[in-house]
Amino acid sequence: MPSDKTTYQTRKKPLRILLANPRGFCAGVDRAIKIVELAIKKFGAPVYVRHEIVHNRYVVEGLEAKGAVFIDELDEVPDDVPVVFSAHGVPKSVPAEAERRKLIYVDATCPLVSKVHRQVERHKAGGRHILMIGHAGHPEVIGTMGQVDPGSMTLIETVADLDSLVFESGTDLSYVTQTTLSVDDTADIVAGLENKFPELKSPKKEDICYATTNRQIAVKEIARQADRVIVIGAPNSSNSRRLVEVAEKTGSRARLVQRATDLDFSWLSGAKTIGISAGASAPEILVAEVIDAIKVHYDASVELVTTAEEDVTFKVPPMLQSVI
Ligand code: SF4
Repeated sequence: MPSDKTTYQTRKKPLRILLANPRGFCAGVDRAIKIVELAIKKFGAPVYVRHEIVHNRYVVEGLEAKGAVFIDELDEVPDDVPVVFSAHGVPKSVPAEAERRKLIYVDATCPLVSKVHRQVERHKAGGRHILMIGHAGHPEVIGTMGQVDPGSMTLIETVADLDSLVFESGTDLSYVTQTTLSVDDTADIVAGLENKFPELKSPKKEDICYATTNRQIAVKEIARQADRVIVIGAPNSSNSRRLVEVAEKTGSRARLVQRATDLDFSWLSGAKTIGISAGASAPEILVAEVIDAIKVHYDASVELVTTAEEDVTFKVPPMLQSVI
């Protein structure tokens, strides 16, 4: 009979964790959350928010606890309550309706999405039909396509969609993109478009934002070295899902988890090195939670893999500056 109790303890297996940097919150998400918090500070609770301010349940529930009420459409907002529009942007009809009803509203659309809205307006004013590369049904796509009259834009989701694109001869064409797409997949679609329509007016650079681009580069770097990649983010977060796809295309097995309770340790079995990243709407507290949960099972060491430094910040709207 062994006298030393430790004889019975199972040694934890070593595990190397490569932590992608940059990961998690981008400047647009940070600003949107701040806008809701400041609106509650300025106007008092409740403040209504049209759609999930950012695609993350943890963030949404945290804001609900502070007095935010999330709704799907403007007609759910009482006349005397302020309303915030989400970071993904809204069709023009939404602020127009808010103005008609004389609602106080604060627009938390990310400035990089607003920039795409202005491009769409410019193309329309220039008499061009606009192709939008993006995902059907995503709020950003609905918002961007809602900047101009129905019929002014055509959505393209994949390279295969190019086959069915037919326009009358003499139609001037231009394109914009959703900000959270896969950089590589979008490059393929753009190449196909330019090949099919040589006269296409292309922007200097596609509209995929700095945060999406940087997080994809970082996840590629960790995926190259890791047996598994965990991306922390919501299933309805476009940029988080793209990170999973990019990791898989780089050759690693990858999964999206919302938080530690989603971890499947049998899936990690046999891995010596894993990578961790987080979508632009996933807070750092959830990254820490996942790492802590892994450390319960493994003798894990964490290495930061930095591929870019970010210093982008966006100001909140003037209406809220006084309560900062
Ligand atoms: S992912 Fe990019 S476009 Fe979207 S909120 Fe963040 S910075 Fe803005």
